[in-house]
Amino acid sequence: MTHRRSVPKQQFIPLREQMDLWPDVSGNTINGLGEPQPRQPSPIYWHAPEATPHGHLQTWMGQHSAKNPAPGREALVKERERVHRRIPVAIADASTRRSPEHWHRSVHEKARTLGAELVGIAPMNPLWVFEGYTVSEPWIIMLGVVMDYDTLKDAPLPSASSEVVKQYTRGERIARDLADWIRSEGFHAEGHCGPMAGRVNFIPPALACGFGELGKHGSIINREYGASFRLASVLTDLPLIADEADILHVDDICLGCQICERDCPAGAISDEKQLVRGEMKWYVDFDKCLPFFNEHHGCALCLAVCPWSTPGRSPRMADKITKRRERLAQTHIAK
Ligand code: SF4
Ligand code: SF4
Repeated sequence: MTHRRSVPKQQFIPLREQMDLWPDVSGNTINGLGEPQPRQPSPIYWHAPEATPHGHLQTWMGQHSAKNPAPGREALVKERERVHRRIPVAIADASTRRSPEHWHRSVHEKARTLGAELVGIAPMNPLWVFEGYTVSEPWIIMLGVVMDYDTLKDAPLPSASSEVVKQYTRGERIARDLADWIRSEGFHAEGHCGPMAGRVNFIPPALACGFGELGKHGSIINREYGASFRLASVLTDLPLIADEADILHVDDICLGCQICERDCPAGAISDEKQLVRGEMKWYVDFDKCLPFFNEHHGCALCLAVCPWSTPGRSPRMADKITKRRERLAQTHIAK
């Protein structure tokens, strides 16, 4: 499998000033690496800095990135704050009575009209909620916004991080617009988008509602957009119907591909799944990734080099997996 590499591979040595802030506890311990029992995720990054052991590093990252700003970053951050501060519309006094099938269809249509490239719905699971937070809404609507690959492919250059900020802003606008529409129909709804984490870890509901599967780089691979998208969500009590998970079998590729593992400048990507809070899955070593991530505008190199992220390639790869599996099944039947 051929691919391009964004930066020459060399040993990465983190800055002393960053490592002096490193807490005594490993981020992998906080994340539950090696734990056999399922449990809620613990807040670790992108929560209030004063509330987590790695919060000083999060603050340091912001200051470090500001010294080497990405093009147009200031305007992008301003726009992001403007969208974030928007006041939600009031919930209509009377709620519109429609079937869950109607609302399911309408949410998909509305989210697409608002600009989301991916939409899915999942019933809330308490195990997706960060420790210390509560969620009473029965449903989570997941939204995906696609990043411009021509900019993403420059990762870990600052320009790629501008694209991330831009898409987080777009995701938040769509989530808030969708929530406002639901509120105008007389139901509760709250929109949210990263990078700051909210009450829910977005990855499990996105997997549950059909966005794809985790790749070796620890991010979701989608059959249409690969790993080149960001997530947003709406929590709501609108009566809905769940979408199904999309079983792509990305492991058929990941088990024979070492691109992200080899190109990660921090050596944070493992070639074996690991036990995390009761589940065997692809897991990125937090302690190895974070120093490079912090010094390189959020990095994203692993997403950029993943062959699934190249525009137009994902559907072909998904199709190839399906055909190969069908051939193997036929051979098996013939024996
Ligand atoms: S780069 Fe290769 S191994 Fe890594 S996630 Fe993508 S397909 Fe899987
Ligand atoms: S984001 Fe982390 S895991 Fe991905 S390439 Fe960068 S350092 Fe490695």
